[in-house]
Amino acid sequence: MPHDPVPGLLSSATEMLEKQFAALPAFESAADPSAMARVLEDVALKLGDNYPYFHPLYAGQMLRPPHPVARAAYALAMTINPNNHARDGGRASSEMEIEAVRQIAGIFGWTEYLGHLTSSGTIANLEALWVAGQLAPSKRVVGSEQAHYTHRRISAVLKLEYASIAADRGGRMSMEALETELSKGDVGTVVVTLGTTALGAVDSLAEILALRSRYNFRVHVDAAYGGYFRLISLSEPARRAYAVIDQADSIVVDPHKHGLQPYGCGCVLFRDPAVGRFYKHDSPYTYFTSKQLHLGEISLECSRAGASAVALWATQRLLPLVPEGEFAHGLAHSRRAALDLDRRLREDKSGRFQPLAAGAPDLDIVVWKINAKMPELHPTDKDLSVGIPKLSSGLAQKIFSACAARDLHLALVQLPTAWFDPDAELNPQNCAANGAGLVTCLRSVLMKPEHEAWMDRIWERLTMSCAEVMGEYRS
Ligand SMILES: *Cc1c(COP(=O)(O)O)cnc(C)c1O
Repeated sequence: MPHDPVPGLLSSATEMLEKQFAALPAFESAADPSAMARVLEDVALKLGDNYPYFHPLYAGQMLRPPHPVARAAYALAMTINPNNHARDGGRASSEMEIEAVRQIAGIFGWTEYLGHLTSSGTIANLEALWVAGQLAPSKRVVGSEQAHYTHRRISAVLKLEYASIAADRGGRMSMEALETELSKGDVGTVVVTLGTTALGAVDSLAEILALRSRYNFRVHVDAAYGGYFRLISLSEPARRAYAVIDQADSIVVDPHKHGLQPYGCGCVLFRDPAVGRFYKHDSPYTYFTSKQLHLGEISLECSRAGASAVALWATQRLLPLVPEGEFAHGLAHSRRAALDLDRRLREDKSGRFQPLAAGAPDLDIVVWKINAKMPELHPTDKDLSVGIPKLSSGLAQKIFSACAARDLHLALVQLPTAWFDPDAELNPQNCAANGAGLVTCLRSVLMKPEHEAWMDRIWERLTMSCAEVMGEYRS
């Protein structure tokens, strides 16, 4: 583990915080330091049973520790434990939330909006779909089959009918399949994912907005993972989608994914502040832009961690959310790491790797399948009888484990086999949602800036593991 700056940061900041309450009569805490130290040792021993999410060789799921300044600010806030439900629970942290959320809205070019933090992306999406349902109670919600699985569940909770739209071989919503649904005339909301959880694929927002003027529906952008990528330059077609994100009706972004925050920090934004009326009926619109806003009155949740807002505010103070800033450069490193890995997979002469046929990744997530037709594998008749996709899935599983034995942690994902074959017929009915023709692939989320500099070491471990599993490894 690298040197931890947090204890040092905390001791001087804690002193400064304590000074402000020094006029109060002194009292002793009942907590026993030596008993706590023993318990904390037990905690440290237990926490060793984790993957090393902090390390550049952890390149699996969307997991990473928060920025040290976020961790320190959160810990400092914990001596107070503010509750951002109302001003009584957290005066300072409510102001910090309003400021931090304004900066997030600024990424999307919004200056007038309604927005707040939530305890997660799921709750943020729930609020967005709840508002959508209030506006069009009898209409359907649709999202691509690669949209986050919680949209279907959220819709069920809200008693809104939900339908999945097929995805194309890049994992983006199929425009043809979407228009088929829209033409039925009962779609109230389209969930557009900017950065799908599995692939980091970016749905074609510009084309979907063009359909909105024909079919009149609400556009909810789920950018829980990908929202911050608005700050860096991307390739087509993702660039085109991000360029029009300000025209969405609502946007969700997760500071606890790419925003360097501890868990418990999602964010929902509405373009029209007037939707605040659904949260509090008897308030005029002006109430929600007044100085004395209680965040609990524009939030479905009641108690919320004020510390989340404090940590987010501190992080954005240190690393402003601007293009070309240090924060944006971090995202650009991640993106370059993904392009580097994708290029290595495509250029690898052995032919053992099969990246997505649709081309390079939109963001910083790379997926590839293992080519089970390699002659070196000498598949037996019995092997072949299980079928190539099954063989490929088994190899991916084994390589995943062999990498883990070398401290390289990847992830696995199931995708339609046809997405890896440029010649395969894509039948919208034969989509992943129907469970047809799936293959287990390797997946790497390269969300730490360090991943770029570590790519040689990641690649070495991947290729060694692959050679070992595929039976060519001689050491
Ligand atoms: C992670 C994610 C979610 C869910 O957010 P949580 O914070 O895990 O509840 C929703 N949508 C997308 C696209 C995501 O990547």
